[in-house]
Amino acid sequence: MGGGIVYLVGAGPGDPGLMTRRSLELIAAADAILYDRLVPPGALDGAREGAELRYVGKRPGNQAATQDEINDLLVKLARAGKRVVRLKGGDPFVFGRGGEEAEALAAAGVPFEVVPGLTAGVAAPAYAGIPVTHRDAASAVAFVTGHEDPDKPESALDWEALARFPGTLVLYMGIRNLPLVTERLAAAGRDPAEAAAVVERGTEPKQRTVGGTLSDIAERAGAAGVGPPAVTVIGPVAALRETVAWLERRPLHGEVVAVTRARAQASGLAGRLRELGAEVVETPAIRIEARPVDLAGIGDYTLLCLTSPNGVRLLFEALGRLGLDARAFAGSTIAAIGPGTAAELARHGIRADVVPERSVAEALVEALASVPVEGRRVLVARASEARDVLPDALRARGAEVDVVPLYDTVAEPLSDGQREALAGATYVTFTSSSTVRFLLESGGRVPDSARVVSIGPITSATARRHGLDVHVEAERHDVDGLVDALTADAAARRVPAA
Ligand code: SAH
Repeated sequence: MGGGIVYLVGAGPGDPGLMTRRSLELIAAADAILYDRLVPPGALDGAREGAELRYVGKRPGNQAATQDEINDLLVKLARAGKRVVRLKGGDPFVFGRGGEEAEALAAAGVPFEVVPGLTAGVAAPAYAGIPVTHRDAASAVAFVTGHEDPDKPESALDWEALARFPGTLVLYMGIRNLPLVTERLAAAGRDPAEAAAVVERGTEPKQRTVGGTLSDIAERAGAAGVGPPAVTVIGPVAALRETVAWLERRPLHGEVVAVTRARAQASGLAGRLRELGAEVVETPAIRIEARPVDLAGIGDYTLLCLTSPNGVRLLFEALGRLGLDARAFAGSTIAAIGPGTAAELARHGIRADVVPERSVAEALVEALASVPVEGRRVLVARASEARDVLPDALRARGAEVDVVPLYDTVAEPLSDGQREALAGATYVTFTSSSTVRFLLESGGRVPDSARVVSIGPITSATARRHGLDVHVEAERHDVDGLVDALTADAAARRVPAA
C-alpha cells in the first residue's frame, strides 16, 4: 500500500495557542499520532475519531518506547499507508531527537515532512519577559543541553567555549544539573555576577520565573522548589524581565478558577478569566436540554419577551424547524432581559426594542412600563424553571400572556478529571442557583481553600443554604460584574511584589 507519510511536528512549548496552523491541520487529518509528554493540553483534541493515539514518551522510572522502537514504528505505520504525525514538544529539531527520526525515515525511503514548532528556549523566556537577543545586550544566543543523565551533564559540553560565548546561553536541562553547570561555567571564566533566570513551565498558566546571577541562580531555584520542565537563561538579557515581564504580572496569574456554568455559556467567562491570566478549569454542572415547542401560533403575538441567550438560541432553532426565520416576528415588539440576550437576538438579525441594563426580571418589568400591553398577546419564552415576576406583572396590566418553556436545566455529571481539577481551584464561580445545586449534587466538592464567587444575592443565598461560605459577591449581576469582583478580591489578597 502506498501513500504513507510521516510528519515530524513541533507542538510548541505548552500554551495551546502557540501551536502552528499546520500542526493543527495535520493532527486533524492523521491516521496515527505518536506523541510525547511535553505536548500542550488539548493538543490532540482535534484528532479524527478513530485515529490511533499513542503515547511514546517517558514515564517516571521507565521508558515507554526506545528511540529505535519509535523509529521502527514510524516506518512501519507509513509503510502500511498511514498518515502519521510524530508530535513533539517545542521544535522537533531542537533537542527533540527529530533529527534521528528523520534520518531513519530517509534511510527507509519513507516520505516525511518537518513542521517546526516554537522552541521552549525562545518561548519560555519570551513569556517571562526575556528577549533572548537584544541590540544592546546580546547579539548571539546558544541553545545548550546536558546529558540526559543528571550525573553527567558535562559529557558533550566545552565549558571554556561556553564561558567565552559572546551572548545569551539558554540551557535546556534538568534543574538538578544546575549547581554543577553554573559552577563549571564560573570556573571556566564566565562572570559570576552575570544575570540569570530560570523559567519553569514556560508559557503555561503555572509559569514561574526565578531570577538571580550565575553564582546564585542554582541555589535560588532550588530554594524555590523549581521543577521540570524549566529552561535557564544566562546573560544580561535575563535582567530585562524586571521591566519586560508581563504574563506573571497579570491580575489573575497563578489563580485556578473553576467555571461551573453550562459548557455552551462557559466560553465568554472562561475567555475573560484567561485574558486576565487565570488558569480556567471548566466543570460544567448544568446542561441545557431543549424541550419540544409548538410555535404554530407565533404570528399572533405582538410582544415577545426573551429572558436568556439560550432561550433566543432555542427559539430560533424551533423556528428554523418550521422553515421560518426572524420575519415571523415582523411587526412585534421585542424585549430582552439584558444585554447578553439582546446580543444573541442581534446575531439572528433582530434589534431588541426594550433592553434593561440589569439582567433581572424586575428590571425588565420596569423597562416595559412605558410599553402599552393592555389587551396585547404576549409571549414569554424562557427556561422551564423560572420566577413568575414578569408574566405576573404583565397580566396585572391586562396583557394576555403565554409562557413557553423552551428548555430545562439539568445536572451534568462531573468526570473524574473534572473533579480532580476542581480540587485544585483557588476560586469557584457560580453564575446561578442551579450551578450551585447541581455542582454539589453531581458530587463536585468545593475545596476548603477555594474562594467562592457568586454572581448575586440569589445565588449567594443558595450557596449558603448548601453550606458554602460566599467570599465574593458581584455588584453587577452579570459575567463582567463577576469577573470584576473576582479580580478585585485577587488584587486585595495578593502580596505586593518585592
Ligand atoms: N524540542 C523541545 C525541547 C525538548 S528537550 C523544544 O524545542 O522546546 C526538553 C527540555 O526542554 C526540558 O528539559 C526543558 O529544559 C525544556 N522545556 C520544554 N518545555 C518547556 C517549558 N514549557 N518551559 C520551560 N522549559 C521547557
